[in-house]
Amino acid sequence: MLRRVIISRASSHINPFCCPRFYPQTSNFHSTKQLKHDSNKPDPANPISRTLGALSYDFRQLKKRLTMSQAERELEDNTEGDVPYDFPKQCDVIIIGGGAMGSSIAYWLRKRALHGLRVVVIEKDPTYQKCSSVLSAGGLRQQFSLEENIEMSLYGAEFLRNMGEYLSIEGEPQVDPQFHPYGYLFLASEAGADTLKRNSVLQNSLGAKNLLLTPEKLTQNFPWINTDGIELGCYGLQNEGWFDPWTLLSGLKNKAIHLGAEYIAAEAVGFEFKQNPNIEVSGIPAGQYVGLDKLTVRTQSGEERSIQFAIAIIAAGAHSNDIARMAKIGTGPGMLSVPLPVEPRKRYVYCFHSPDGPGLNTPLTIDPTGTYFRREGLAGNYICGRSPELVDEPAVDNLEVDLEYFDQKIWPILAKRVEAFGNLKVKSSWAGFYEYNKFDENGIIGMHPYYHNLYLATGFSGHGIQHAPAVGRAISELIIDGRFVTIDLTRLGFDRIITLEPMLEANIV
Ligand SMILES: Cc1cc2nc3c(=O)[nH]c(=O)nc-3n(C[C@H](O)[C@H](O)[C@H](O)COP(=O)(O)OP(=O)(O)OC[C@H]3O[C@@H](n4cnc5c(N)ncnc54)[C@H](O)[C@@H]3O)c2cc1C
Repeated sequence: MLRRVIISRASSHINPFCCPRFYPQTSNFHSTKQLKHDSNKPDPANPISRTLGALSYDFRQLKKRLTMSQAERELEDNTEGDVPYDFPKQCDVIIIGGGAMGSSIAYWLRKRALHGLRVVVIEKDPTYQKCSSVLSAGGLRQQFSLEENIEMSLYGAEFLRNMGEYLSIEGEPQVDPQFHPYGYLFLASEAGADTLKRNSVLQNSLGAKNLLLTPEKLTQNFPWINTDGIELGCYGLQNEGWFDPWTLLSGLKNKAIHLGAEYIAAEAVGFEFKQNPNIEVSGIPAGQYVGLDKLTVRTQSGEERSIQFAIAIIAAGAHSNDIARMAKIGTGPGMLSVPLPVEPRKRYVYCFHSPDGPGLNTPLTIDPTGTYFRREGLAGNYICGRSPELVDEPAVDNLEVDLEYFDQKIWPILAKRVEAFGNLKVKSSWAGFYEYNKFDENGIIGMHPYYHNLYLATGFSGHGIQHAPAVGRAISELIIDGRFVTIDLTRLGFDRIITLEPMLEANIV
C-alpha cells in the first residue's frame, strides 16, 4: 500500500487518542442559548428577581418545546434564528456531509469514543431534499463481485435486522427500518453467465446464500419471467431486500446527536491550511508539509465562520469532489494533482402500476441490460430504473425526471421480460444523484495519501446506503484503532487511484 505520510515526529500515527487532548469541550448548548435568548433580563443585582426571571424563562421555553414537532426542535437546537449559536470553534473530528455516510461515521465515533472525541457534522441542507440517502431505493444485496462489498453488505443486513438495538433511544419509539427481506434475482445472458457463476461462488464462500437457476428452474420458480436470451439467474436466499432509507438516515443522525455529536446547518466553503514541520511526506522537502487546519463554513444567514479540527472527513456524497478541490485535491502539486474521481450522475426511479403483474413472489429482478424492477407493496405497484449508457447521461443541474427515458429505454425491456408489464401506468417518479466514482464505480474509503488528517467516505456509485453502517464503523476504526479491525477495506483506499489499480465491481445496477 502507498503511504506518503511517513513520519510524524510528534506522534506515532495521527490519532486523537495518541496526541494530547486536542481541544477543550465548550459549555452546554442549552445553557448558553438560554443566556443569549433571555430578553426579559432581570436586575442582575437582585438574586430573587434573577431567579424568578430565570425560572419564568425556563418555563416558557419548556412550554414552547413541548408543543413543537421533532423537526422544529431539531432546527431550534441547531440555530438561533438563522445563526447557529454556541458555534464550535474547534473540534476533534469534523464531518462534511450529514447524509447516511456522515451520520453513520458520527454515530460510530461517538458510540465508541463518546466524550473522548468532539464530533461536529456540517450539513448544508438539514431538510435533506436532494440528499441521495433519502432519494435512494433502499436496496440491500449480497450479490457483488468484490469481497469488500459483500462483507459490507453482510454487515449492513446484520445492522438493519438489529437496528432497534443499535439506534433506539430510551423513552423513544423503537427504530424500525421496515426491512422487506426478499431476494435479488440477477439475470445473465450467455455473455454474463460465467461472471454470475464466479460471483455466486465467492458470495457463498463469504457467508451470503444464493442459488444459481437455469432457465428451466427460473420458469418453475417465477413463471411470469420470459427467459428469452437468459442463460442463468442468481437468486438471493437471505440477507437481501429493501428498507426505508429515511429511517436509517434519521435513526443514525438522532442516535449520533443523542450520543453527543453536534450537527451544524452550514455549507462547507473552504479549508485553511497550516505548515506542519512534524510531518514528512515523500516528494515534499522536510519541514515543508502543509496540512489542513480549519474548515470555513457559511451559515444559513450567509455568515462565514471557521472551525479548527484535528481530523476532517469528506462524506458529501455526489458533491464530495467540490470539497476535495477546496483541499487542493486535483489542483495541487504531486499527489495532490490526482483528483477525487467522484461526480453527480442523475438516476431516475419510476413507480408504476400493472394490474396483472406478478405478486408476492417477485424478487428485485435485474435484467442483463441493467434494468431493474421490484414490487412496492402488494397491489400491483412496482418501482423500476436503469443506469443510462454514457451517451444518454442526463444533465445534473436539476433533479427533473425524463419520462421519455422510461418510454424509450425501460418499458420495452420490462414488457419483454414480463408480459403483464405490457399493460402498465407510470404513477410517479423521482430522481437523485449517484455519487458516481468514474474510476471504478466503488467507494473510496480511508485516509487521503497526502494529508495526515483527511479521510474520505464517498464514491459508492449506487450501493452506498446499504454500506453506510459498515463504512461508519470502518472509519471509526481507522481513527480510533489506527487500522481496519472488522473488515479490511485497504483496497478501497484513495491509493488505488494514484497507482491506477481499479477495483472494478461487476454487479453495478
Ligand atoms: C435513485 C437512487 C437509488 C439508489 N438506490 C440505492 C440502493 O438501492 N441501495 C444502495 O445501497 N444505495 C442506493 N443508492 C446510493 C445511495 O443513495 C448513496 O450511495 C448513499 O446515500 C450515499 O450517502 P452519502 O451520505 O454519502 O451521500 P448523501 O446522502 O448525498 O449525503 C451527503 C450530504 O452532504 C451534504 N453536503 C454536500 N455538500 C456539502 C457542503 N459543501 N457542505 C455541507 N454539506 C454538504 C448534502 O447536503 C448531503 O446531505 C441510490 C442512489 C440514488 C440516487
